[in-house]
Amino acid sequence: MKAHIFIITAGAVLSVTAVKAQKKFNPDSLFKEAAKTELWEPVPEKVTPGKTPSEAPSDAILLFQGNNLNAWQKKGGGKPGWKIDASGIMNVVKGAGDIETKQGFGSCQLHIEWKSPAAIAGNGQSRGNSGIFFMGRYELQVLDSYNNPTYVNGQAGSMYKQYAPLVNAARKPGEWQSYDVVFTAPRFYSDGQVQEPARITVFHNGVLIQNNVIIKGNTEWIGASVYKVHGNKEPLILQDHGMDGGNPVAYRNIWIRPL
Ligand code: MG
Repeated sequence: MKAHIFIITAGAVLSVTAVKAQKKFNPDSLFKEAAKTELWEPVPEKVTPGKTPSEAPSDAILLFQGNNLNAWQKKGGGKPGWKIDASGIMNVVKGAGDIETKQGFGSCQLHIEWKSPAAIAGNGQSRGNSGIFFMGRYELQVLDSYNNPTYVNGQAGSMYKQYAPLVNAARKPGEWQSYDVVFTAPRFYSDGQVQEPARITVFHNGVLIQNNVIIKGNTEWIGASVYKVHGNKEPLILQDHGMDGGNPVAYRNIWIRPL
């Protein structure tokens, strides 16, 4: 009997509280409260996106769109030896050396399309090998990784000798492939020590393959990666993997957005 009375009393108290709360409801004061956490500036700049995600948005720097190599030079300086064919595709010329952008870049968003030779020549690292070196030293591997076993931290989409891709999203040789990259430049203290290491996120043909991984230092073929202090902006390098045959990789539609 006692418990029953308590329940009735508690119910009455609750309903009185609800009525009081209803009377207090004041939309103006709620909107005022909500406004305290609204930000109105700075207003993000307007950017016109491309018609497709692969097409450069209005604020991108066009590095290669099929007409010329004006944005590029031979690594270290001079005319780039790579060739543009009749269909507006940039082809690695064996022995011509790496090419680099004339302009330096730090943190950036990069879109780049590449194609391994349709005719398979070589195997492993000797099959469609090229590479994209952010700030001239951190290599995102380009390789024909369609049914082509090699060490996994050297296959297409690897951060060479540092991270294998999360999955193998490679298309067949001879088919165009894309990388969409968010690269965060490292920062150094004035004494050359690393303040913040570089990071990279990569989508290969739209598939996430590197998820904000921490770059361990300069890309090395042999030995451990270590950081060596460098400028805030450094050229982007495309690799002529001239050590062996079978690597006439092609590139098209390259654009970059400094961040
Ligand atoms: Mg390479």
